[in-house]
Amino acid sequence: MMILKTFRYLFFTLLAGIFVLFVFTFAVKRTPENNYKNLNQTDKQLFDELTLQYKTFAEKSEQIWTANYRYDKKPLILIRSVKNKFIWNYIYLVNAGKLIDTSKYTKIHFPGNPYLQDVYATTSLGTTSLQYWFPFAFDYSTLGNQEVLAFKYYPELFKNGVTFPDFSFFSMHEAFHLYAQKDWKYDADAKASTNPYPHNNENYNLLKKEYVLIDTALNTTDTVALNKIMKEWVQVRNSRYAKWPQLIGETNLEAIEGTAKYIELKYAKLIDHKKKQGPTFSQALDSLLKSGQNYSFLERSVFYSTGAALGYILDRLDPAWKEKITESPTHKGQTQYQILKSRY
Ligand SMILES: [Zn+2]
Repeated sequence: MMILKTFRYLFFTLLAGIFVLFVFTFAVKRTPENNYKNLNQTDKQLFDELTLQYKTFAEKSEQIWTANYRYDKKPLILIRSVKNKFIWNYIYLVNAGKLIDTSKYTKIHFPGNPYLQDVYATTSLGTTSLQYWFPFAFDYSTLGNQEVLAFKYYPELFKNGVTFPDFSFFSMHEAFHLYAQKDWKYDADAKASTNPYPHNNENYNLLKKEYVLIDTALNTTDTVALNKIMKEWVQVRNSRYAKWPQLIGETNLEAIEGTAKYIELKYAKLIDHKKKQGPTFSQALDSLLKSGQNYSFLERSVFYSTGAALGYILDRLDPAWKEKITESPTHKGQTQYQILKSRY
C-alpha cells in the first residue's frame, strides 16, 4: 500500500511538474514583438532609460568616467522577470553580436535610434539561462568568452520616486564593477573589510572631524584652501589607521564602491535627474549616533558616499586620479586616500 501511495504521489508530482513547465513554455515564455513601438510599457521604459544612458555615454563619457569607458558599447543581458525575481519570461541581448551568433534570435528594431542597433530577444539561452531561475537581481553570464552582466528588470524598477533600486543607476553601477573594474584588486583577499569595526566614542569623534572636513572640502572652490583641508583630513585618517589597522579596509571599499557611486552621481547631474543628495556627512553621523540604533552603516555603506565625495574632491586637486586608481595586470592602482596621502 505504502509503495503504491508513494508511486501515486510521485506520479502526480511529475504530472504537476509537466503542467507547470507547459504553462511556462506557452504562457509565460513568449518572445516580444520585433519593433519598439509594439513592446509593452515596461520594456519601452527599459529601452528609453537605456537609450538615455547610452546617448549620454556616447556623447560625454569623459564627463562621467574616462573617454575610454564606453558603457554604451558593452554587452548586456536584460531579463524580464517579476519583482520576486523567481519567474522570468524572456531575455534581451544588447550589443552581444560581437560575442555570439545572434541571428537565430528575434531582432528588435528601434527606428531612428542609433544607440540600440544590436538588440535581440529570446526565451532561452540554453544552459546559460538555467541560472536565471535563481532569484538574483543581477548575475554574470558568459557569452562567447566574455563575462556579461545579466540584469533582471520588472515594472517596479521604473516607478517614479523610487531611488533604489532604480534601473538606470543600479544597472550602470553593476556594469561599472564588471567592465571598468575588471582588473581591480582592492576587494581581493578580504582587503575591503573593516572587521572588527571599532564601535567606540574615540573612533566616532575622529569620524566627526573627518566628516566636517569632507563637508567643508565639498563646498570649497579655492585650491589652496582645499589642499589645506585635505591635508588635515589625511592626518585624521592616519591617526585612525594607526589605532585600528583594520580600518584601512575602508579605503579599498571607497575605491571600489565609491567610484561606482561617483559615476551614478555624475550621470544624474548630466541628465538633470533629481537624485537625492541627502544630508551632509556630519549631519548624517550626528543623527545616526543620536538615534542609538544599529551603527553597521559605518562599517560599509557609508564608504559608497565618502568614496564618491573624494572623487569629486580629486577632480579639482588631481585630474589624473582616474588613471591612478585604475588597476590592470601591469599597473597597481592607488586608492583615493593613497592619492591624497601622497600629495602631503
Ligand atoms: Zn557596488
